Amino acid sequence: MSGIYIHIPYCKQACHYCDFHFSTSLQNKQQMVDALSQELKLRKDYLADPLIQTLYFGGGTPSILSTSELAQLIETSREEFVLSENLELTLEANPDDLNLTKLHELKSLGINRLSIGIQSFDDALLKYFNRSHDRRTAIQAVRDAREAGIDNISIDLIFGVPNQSLEMLADDLRQALSLETPHISIYGLTIEEKTVFGKWHKQNKLTPIDEDLASEHLSLIMTTLETAGYVQYEISNFCKPDYQSRHNSSYWAGTHYLGIGPAAHSYNGSSRQYNISHNNKYIQAIHAHQLNHEIEVLTQDEKITEMILTQIRTIAGIDMMELKSQLGYDMIHEKKKELSQLTQSGLLSIQNDRLILSKKGKLLGDYITELLIP
Ligand code: SF4
Repeated sequence: MSGIYIHIPYCKQACHYCDFHFSTSLQNKQQMVDALSQELKLRKDYLADPLIQTLYFGGGTPSILSTSELAQLIETSREEFVLSENLELTLEANPDDLNLTKLHELKSLGINRLSIGIQSFDDALLKYFNRSHDRRTAIQAVRDAREAGIDNISIDLIFGVPNQSLEMLADDLRQALSLETPHISIYGLTIEEKTVFGKWHKQNKLTPIDEDLASEHLSLIMTTLETAGYVQYEISNFCKPDYQSRHNSSYWAGTHYLGIGPAAHSYNGSSRQYNISHNNKYIQAIHAHQLNHEIEVLTQDEKITEMILTQIRTIAGIDMMELKSQLGYDMIHEKKKELSQLTQSGLLSIQNDRLILSKKGKLLGDYITELLIP
């Protein structure tokens, strides 16, 4: 089982919090699409198992591509790989790129899951973020997607924003629930150095939210969404039964994947590969039939740390038998004292050789992870 991720490195404008790789100049867009197609061809043998279960367009803003550009990439994937009959084909989209006509076209391409970047329904917050849409556009995008026949919809929200009160967050959650999307991803804001927020922080124009209040935010999110029937299958991801993102779940399960495009990562079980984070250099290299990337071979300790970091965030928790049999790490023995303290404090439980965070533990996920890694 394998997955493909295709990074579309363009955005209409830069959101003030975002440090993903993207450019706001669309000049080379068609050349980039040609290069992405070419990389799919060059790396068709990267995955040991060519059967692709999930294909994910992320970014950047994949919805900035025209229907024909997306069709080109899907067609190339179909020619070079074996796409499962049950393929999950996700497109990340911004609300202002979506309308009924475009959504019908996306559906006809086989896109069967949309991940819509809404971030908030509060117009003042959206301006503060420098988002390219407003509340009304966001709501309309979700309604149009459904009308076009795409039901598997996820929306992204952000919490822990400076000046975001619990009441404002509750309003965002109320609005999200009224749209009845089967999946909601909600991320705590982090202030990244090379962003506008990072600059404001350095100039003392922005004060990050207090940690206790951020915990209260997360607690409110968990209670509200759980009461509404969502399952928190990963710390930042909530879904109605059977609507988890298969693509993201496969990352957490250690499935191999091929990452195409500038700044994309790939994983084949023993090493990670990082493509260059520069649009023009990426295009030039691919045109010369070269791959401009770095390869990192993971040490045993790095593999163990990675498995703990990803699995601890999920509803299934850390599979301690898998850790022991595959990576030789006997956590029960190595972390006996820490596990005893954490279980006694009610931060986690051990069920059928799996270590699972409690609700209280999810609020302290980073601290607990630090205690458990080798
Ligand atoms: S949040 Fe999304 S739309 Fe905004 S700059 Fe980052 S990638 Fe682009």
